[in-house]
Amino acid sequence: MSTPNGVDRYGVMGYPVSHSRSPVIHRLFALQTGQRMQYELLQVSPDHLEDAIRQFERTGGRGLNITVPHKQAVIPLCSSLSDRARTAAAANTLTFDNGEIRGDNTDGIGLLRDLAVNLGIELQQRSILILGAGGATRGIVGPLLEMQPKRLLIANRSIERAEEIVERFAEDGPVFACSFNDGQLGESFDLVINATSAGFKGERPPYPVDAVSSKTVCYDLSYGLNPTPFSVWAREQGAANSIMGWGMLVEQAAESFNIWRGIRPDTAAVLKQISVTA
Ligand code: NDP
Repeated sequence: MSTPNGVDRYGVMGYPVSHSRSPVIHRLFALQTGQRMQYELLQVSPDHLEDAIRQFERTGGRGLNITVPHKQAVIPLCSSLSDRARTAAAANTLTFDNGEIRGDNTDGIGLLRDLAVNLGIELQQRSILILGAGGATRGIVGPLLEMQPKRLLIANRSIERAEEIVERFAEDGPVFACSFNDGQLGESFDLVINATSAGFKGERPPYPVDAVSSKTVCYDLSYGLNPTPFSVWAREQGAANSIMGWGMLVEQAAESFNIWRGIRPDTAAVLKQISVTA
């Protein structure tokens, strides 16, 4: 079912969500590929998540992106899950089809495409640190382990959440958990990924100073028209490079678009249109 005007309806649901650039990206994809669709920004608090998803579906919704902080909460609402969403126990893409809700997770493939293809960063036998253990981290750990890093350490404020992810992926590669003040953060990493939502809430956690050397690439999943607090911090530590998550944002969106519309947009053109250099 489409909207009364025959246009297929999509959107991104989060709390808060006003920062999201997904509507712009999907509109550019639709224009580029000639798809008739609309894409909305939907702010929904955790208490109303299930009702809001069901109502969106009833009123002609064809698919949703799910963002902070709902990626884990939507899992029990899905009738079926892709392997990557099941393994992560987190979904960022829902597809509505004849009363069924299919859950998928395109964060991992989106990050990998940006790191490996767009930026040419080698991951095999490299040491990787992820800061944060929320829904986004769940999505990126599996694909990062597939690239056979030397070691993948997840540091989180609440260590139990990092430990839970490590248990989930322990058989897939060398993945470990720690807290923000752990001794394991006393040595530098090849790649440090910020997957906390701290910056976007205006908070600055005690990022581990010794984890960054002049050889470290720092990648912030968060993005902004101005440099994010983490990307500024990374530059202050003398990192080799400090990158914001625009590329991941566009690549994960392209994968969702492909799931919904069966057509892969040209990401390079859209990335150029929406991003700025930190
Ligand atoms: P969640 O809400 O699921 O998780 C938030 C994480 O941030 C938790 O690990 C939480 O720690 C941590 N955190 C929040 N505040 C602080 C703080 N003050 N100090 C230390 N840690 C903190 O969010 P997601 O995982 O879904 O998203 C994380 C970020 O990644 C968001 O900013 C999001 O916009 C971005 N993102 C970007 C994408 C892109 O395409 N570029 C794709 C996906 C996400 P704790 O467990 O202790 O609460």
